[in-house]
Amino acid sequence: MSDARKIAFIGLGAMGLPMASNLVRKGFDVVAYDIDAEKLARLTALGAKKAGSASEAAAQAGIVVTMLPATQHVEAVVLGDGGVLAAMQADTVLMDMSTIDPKGTDRISAACADKGVRFIDTPVGRLTSHAERGESLFMVGGDDATFARVEPLLNAMGNSIHRCGAAGMGQRMKVINNFMLLTTAQVVSEAITLGAKLGLDVDTMKTVTGATTANNGQFQIALAAKVLTGDIAPGFTIDLAFKDMTLAINAAAEQRVGLPVGSAAHAVFGAARATPLHDKDYSALLEQSCRLAGIETPRLRA
Ligand code: NAD
Repeated sequence: MSDARKIAFIGLGAMGLPMASNLVRKGFDVVAYDIDAEKLARLTALGAKKAGSASEAAAQAGIVVTMLPATQHVEAVVLGDGGVLAAMQADTVLMDMSTIDPKGTDRISAACADKGVRFIDTPVGRLTSHAERGESLFMVGGDDATFARVEPLLNAMGNSIHRCGAAGMGQRMKVINNFMLLTTAQVVSEAITLGAKLGLDVDTMKTVTGATTANNGQFQIALAAKVLTGDIAPGFTIDLAFKDMTLAINAAAEQRVGLPVGSAAHAVFGAARATPLHDKDYSALLEQSCRLAGIETPRLRA
């Protein structure tokens, strides 16, 4: 029997675990599932209940949250045989926080509507470090009544909520956001590599570009916290970044929009994906760029 106050959380990876941990710490009644037993154990150690499957978790809950890698995972977990949707009762809420193909979101949203289940997409912006601090950003697609149900959860996991339109529009916003930031990360990596070859110090490059209109969060926040300190543990992997760039490239092809600069960046992610860097943080694009240029990756002093 489902309990309107109970939250089912499915997918406890680099983002899902810190997000669900914030819910547990802030007093929500969470029942969780991940195919990785070790990750599930880390959440139950904080006080969450453990389910034996995604559908077992969903059957108990008023709100089901999914935070899974890609479209195929979310569709299999929600719509597959023995999936979450079959276990949910009418007027409960499915909130997908993963970054997936907006057309997949549309299919899931339609299947929910057929069953009388409310659907809302709330993909997440910012880094894993923000998720740990409960400072994530959410791009929300859904109606007012469904948003009102999930708003307390979003406030417990983040501090910046953006309503983007009807169901599916949060996901469309997320595709654009990641296309922009990931393309920028590659341009920043190229600029740092060239600057290092020209003899410039990376601290100087960071300070000067941070004080002009070249200023951007990839150099100042994302790369500065990871690869530029020598840390390329994910974070957000190159494999997932390639997935997001591909979502933008596919959407552009369908819409007959050319993305010449972004297409080049997409190819760089594709090449990085074939190297041992594929499961490292996406900021390791700089490692790849420096290796190709035959130089050591520069590190910040400060
Ligand atoms: P991840 O690979 O670290 O975690 C995914 C989790 O899903 C893993 O724990 C995995 O075991 C679990 N999983 C896979 N299939 C499952 C199934 N069938 N049933 C139950 N659990 C299953 O990925 P992540 O970095 O946490 O990213 C999750 C989503 O959030 C992705 O769509 C990603 O693009 C997006 N995102 C990631 C970041 C980031 O910085 N890592 C930031 C914003 C958004």
